[in-house]
Amino acid sequence: MNKLPGSAIVIGASIGGLSAARVLADHFERVTVIERDVLDDGPRSGAPQANHIHVLLRRGVDLLDQYFPGLLEEMKAEGVEPFDFTRDLRWLQFGDWMPRDPSGIVLYPQTRFSLERHLRRRLRAYANVEILESTAVRALLATPDGRRILGVQTHSRQEANGAVTNRLANVVVDASGRGTQLGKWLADLGYGPLEESRLPINLCYVSRLFERPSTPRDWRGLWVTPLPPEAPRGGAMQEVEDHRWIVSLFGYEGHHPPRDESGFVEFAKSLREPDIYEAIKDARPVSDVQVYRVPDVRWRHFERLSDFPAGLLVLGDAWCYFDPVFGQGMSVAMLEANLLNESLHQLDSLDAVTQAWTATYLRTGAQWLRGLWFFVTAEAMRHPHVPGERTRLVKLAQWYVEELYALNHEHPEVYREFLKLMHVQAGPEFLLRPDIALRLAKRAWRKKQVMGFGAQALQPEGATAEPASDLPLWPASRVALGMRYVGRVLANIVAPGQVGPRDRICHFDTEMMWTPDPSLGWFVRDALRSQNLLGEAQEVRRFLEYWLPVQGLSVSKKALIEFSFNVDEPGLGFMLYSDTETVTRSFREYTRQMGLSNEGVERSVAICETFRPSDLGLVRAEFKPGSPTRYSIAASWHFDPMRGHSGFEDAMRRLPERFRAGPFAERVKSHAQALGTEYFPLFLGLSFQEDGTLESKMYLVRFDDKQPPFQPGSALWRFLEGMGVPAPELERIRQLNELLWERSADKMTQIAIEASESQPQARRVNLIYCGTQTSAVLEAIPRFGYPSSATQAVREFEQRMQTDRAKFVAVRVGPEGLSPRLKLYKHALFDFADLSVVEDGGLKPRVSQTVGDSPAAASDAPDVCLY
Ligand SMILES: Cc1cc2nc3c(=O)[nH]c(=O)nc-3n(C[C@H](O)[C@H](O)[C@H](O)COP(=O)(O)OP(=O)(O)OC[C@H]3O[C@@H](n4cnc5c(N)ncnc54)[C@H](O)[C@@H]3O)c2cc1C
Repeated sequence: MNKLPGSAIVIGASIGGLSAARVLADHFERVTVIERDVLDDGPRSGAPQANHIHVLLRRGVDLLDQYFPGLLEEMKAEGVEPFDFTRDLRWLQFGDWMPRDPSGIVLYPQTRFSLERHLRRRLRAYANVEILESTAVRALLATPDGRRILGVQTHSRQEANGAVTNRLANVVVDASGRGTQLGKWLADLGYGPLEESRLPINLCYVSRLFERPSTPRDWRGLWVTPLPPEAPRGGAMQEVEDHRWIVSLFGYEGHHPPRDESGFVEFAKSLREPDIYEAIKDARPVSDVQVYRVPDVRWRHFERLSDFPAGLLVLGDAWCYFDPVFGQGMSVAMLEANLLNESLHQLDSLDAVTQAWTATYLRTGAQWLRGLWFFVTAEAMRHPHVPGERTRLVKLAQWYVEELYALNHEHPEVYREFLKLMHVQAGPEFLLRPDIALRLAKRAWRKKQVMGFGAQALQPEGATAEPASDLPLWPASRVALGMRYVGRVLANIVAPGQVGPRDRICHFDTEMMWTPDPSLGWFVRDALRSQNLLGEAQEVRRFLEYWLPVQGLSVSKKALIEFSFNVDEPGLGFMLYSDTETVTRSFREYTRQMGLSNEGVERSVAICETFRPSDLGLVRAEFKPGSPTRYSIAASWHFDPMRGHSGFEDAMRRLPERFRAGPFAERVKSHAQALGTEYFPLFLGLSFQEDGTLESKMYLVRFDDKQPPFQPGSALWRFLEGMGVPAPELERIRQLNELLWERSADKMTQIAIEASESQPQARRVNLIYCGTQTSAVLEAIPRFGYPSSATQAVREFEQRMQTDRAKFVAVRVGPEGLSPRLKLYKHALFDFADLSVVEDGGLKPRVSQTVGDSPAAASDAPDVCLY
């Protein structure tokens, strides 16, 4: 590889610094590592954690092998005995010892001193690398405007009042660990303030080396993890070089291990299993007891500084450090060095060391740290003394992790995959695998098989409520669907924007769902009033009271409701999601209770019953003043929350025999043929009105990055032409599409094709844009001839939903071209609350509150706040 004719400086010669130097050695003519400690083979003040047990995860071992070929063999030759992570380690996690079948994950147990020594020796063999010891960096050198780093100022620690030297370099990498002064140095250059995420954990490690007895044992390492809140103490020990054991005991707040000899052994006895105690009680100590306090975990957000100087990078603990109990720090530092290597490959000249280059490295690293930080802090929050909001997501992650461990006991093949994730050998896709989700679902189902369906449909005045259905509260289909979504949410945290081979996680998934004002009743009542729908209030209330507990999140007494607002005429729609089985069975029950019986019910249910029970299903009711309510149910047509969308061929294959013939299937097939090259199937269903009018609905979806999808000659263009849309209208649709697409967050376009039973052609097509700014809609209203009253409706939507972005904007196209219908959608997670207010028609005032001495006026304004 051609080296750049320049130099790099690394601050700190520990794991992060040495890894960075190795990478830089391939790219720069000169690399200088500056370390303030004297580097011999023993304890040093700059890395006091090195006195404690250190396990390098397998990905770290792989990187060692990649960057220092032959090093693992050298280590073996020098007495490091490789060890299989499961066969050789007895590991108590949550309530159980983990399975011991060989995993093939081979680690190299040794002291941290031994590991550093090996790395230093290999690095010193590079002619272009120099390691300066006893030299501390004390400032950054930069251009006068501070925008480019030119080097560092050091002072020698070899003598009192040691020499101060300015050392120039093209790139400076800070790997000076958790005590880094980088924030201060940047502040001196005018950057900042630096944001930090910090979680106090108050952990203490106490460690000691013991002579390893020759007695045969069936393990070579022991790991007893804490189980908070009952057991906040833990311990770990492993064989290390020179026939020794390193033993580390640790405890969180109020449970710090004592450092005296007998206290150390007694603490080991107090762990939830006595194995470490049994091992060391008669063993001979060969070192002092060493103590290390870990007050917190911390992420210094260098990546968030709006302007970061060119040529400065940071890695390892200086950037972010975690709870050491998880043993990730060294591997993370090495992975960041690996990322640095990838970034360096982008540099073809020294001029390319720009702020943008530096910022890209920081942004990419931060994306990766975000997932890790989330999981590690969620785990820390199992300890009651650790502050931090236990959000639903945190609890979900804690639950998921615990269940996943339990699953590992039942399924060795899952355990093997899990270990790859734990050792960072595999990405988070593991969390998304449907088989894992299904197994978790089955476990959860077995545990929570609670009978009795939550929904008690509202009965007409005087009638006794009857149970809505005999469905269990936790049908396997719902649990499986829920699990797949949990996986997707977690994956989105770990690997934002990268889920699904065919699509991305979209706006819908990434918006945090938070609960607005709990009084759903007030919100709906106000919406009904604004849409002139108070006459339908009773029916709306019955609909909601039936469906709220049915939908997927009923166990937490939260309901995800999607509202749709017409902007050209009054109307309000409610959409709720659950698994298809629950939707279809409940729909049958609901229509029975409502006395609705027509062909639409039978056929809608029949269509949805052809889907997998755990596919995503939806139920929808649309109310218009004085018109019959329109109901629809639909099932996700091979949309898998984890794998995204699959093609039509797959979807068609899955339609059962009885649906492959007949006008409905024929129409579906012809639409699929016309559009399948450009769109993926999403939902299939049937809408019908109370009066029996039937319409089939087919939702398709595509994702684009570069240009809007609706272009002359495209499949959709030809489809609309086939419907009879005249050419000037096609051009208008194209322009409208471009406007809305450009101002949409996800570049995801859905189309919904509606076809009535009796007509061979589609009756209309809705073009649906996801995460769209309402300002684009406001711009579209005069430009594309929508009624001017629509502006007022959009303003009301913004105010009611407290948002400047709609989840969906749907534009309707008929054979004549753009029709005046425009719909905005928004969703929110509501508490189930008293819905009786819905029927009161706005007559009942809100409960007045007293603020101090003055009674606050009863407010009629909705106090919901939706994203
Ligand atoms: C008790 C404990 C147990 C742990 N166990 C594990 C484990 O099992 N597995 C694992 O992967 N991780 C573990 N870790 C985490 C791991 O130790 C760190 O993540 C890792 O050391 C980070 O490496 P680093 O190079 O970024 O920083 P450090 O190792 O902290 O090194 C920083 C270096 O910079 C030098 N330095 C600092 N300031 C200056 C300056 N101004 N000028 C020059 N030099 C300077 C220091 O002397 C030091 O050598 C543990 C941590 C603790 C506290």
